[in-house]
Amino acid sequence: MNISSKNRCFLVTCMLVVFLLGALSIDCLCQTRAKTHIDIPDIPGYITMKCDFHMHTVFSDGSVWPQIRAEEAWRQGLDAFSITDHIEYQPHKDDVITNHYKPYEIARPAAEALQVLIIPGGEITRSEPIGHHNAIFLTDINALDTPDSTIAIRNAAEQGGFVFWNHPGWKQPDGKAVWFPIQSEIYDQGWLHGIEVVNGASYYPNAHAWCLEKKLTMMCSSDVHGPINLDYDIYNGQHRPMTLVFVKRKTENELKKALFDRRTAVYYNNILIGEEKYLEPLFNASVEILNPKIVIEGNSRVVVQISNTSDVSYELVADGETEGISIPNSLTLHAHKTVRCTIRRTSETLSGTKRIRMKYKVTNLLVAPEEGLSVELPLRITFVR
Ligand SMILES: [Zn+2]
Ligand SMILES: [Zn+2]
Repeated sequence: MNISSKNRCFLVTCMLVVFLLGALSIDCLCQTRAKTHIDIPDIPGYITMKCDFHMHTVFSDGSVWPQIRAEEAWRQGLDAFSITDHIEYQPHKDDVITNHYKPYEIARPAAEALQVLIIPGGEITRSEPIGHHNAIFLTDINALDTPDSTIAIRNAAEQGGFVFWNHPGWKQPDGKAVWFPIQSEIYDQGWLHGIEVVNGASYYPNAHAWCLEKKLTMMCSSDVHGPINLDYDIYNGQHRPMTLVFVKRKTENELKKALFDRRTAVYYNNILIGEEKYLEPLFNASVEILNPKIVIEGNSRVVVQISNTSDVSYELVADGETEGISIPNSLTLHAHKTVRCTIRRTSETLSGTKRIRMKYKVTNLLVAPEEGLSVELPLRITFVR
């Protein structure tokens, strides 16, 4: 076939366009299959693991295949996850076989390839008042498949499983968690180790208080049923609810040890919930005053710059008087930004160099229901007349 030079030129152009489009689409694929890191810092002595121990697949009432959960976990920056399909509720069982191990078995190779820990688990799904419980680190998931609900929980605990009470306010009036006598029975036996303080978008202040009173582990889960991106758009700054676990090393054993040792914090909707001993170092590891040595001459105003390297935007309100200076009543330390605020002296008698702490409450770091973490931002101020 004889191709004219004009046609040849056209063909070459077409091939170039096809090549460029192909290259672009490969590039797009690489872009979308990227991991988004969650910037919550480690704290002294511990690595902060980001975990979601409650989600479903087609093996119960979810709508995704187990392998996809591994890819989602990786993309959304998780270190560990658990698929906890309902033991007793499988609306797809005519299409998908009943096998409580299958979701773990299917997802595990994908999780291992992406270096995300997958923990075997299941959801014991009974009516109120006992409600739903997740059991993870299981060696015999089938032992949960037994008629008596208390026996199912006992069987999970006795094989070394970590058992937590799910969405304790679900189906209760006003969504308020209620502690029934059956919960005391399970708790007194030592079979209950944690409670979901947050499930999806629901925060349970009662559960928060019970975790503090009864020394139970604070948990936070997505309980996602559909594709995670339908609920949380990570590319637009959203994040799934997750449990932060403070571990010595990123291994399954250390993770389990940390959960039984109550070394967790709840992270949802730009809010952190946990004990002061974890929230304070998290805040301190995220926030830094860039110009802590300040000179104030007379009544002049001076700018203080505060950086925040974490994903959490901290909401601060002044907590009483700060000695010698006026500080802003409220301040937002935006995630991954440096903010500026202005201070000035309020005391005429101050002179020389003083260590002064700007006292704030962080309203989105909760150490108890409705109680923000107290923080002090240190300055070294030289007052010149
Ligand atoms: Zn449930
Ligand atoms: Zn669930």
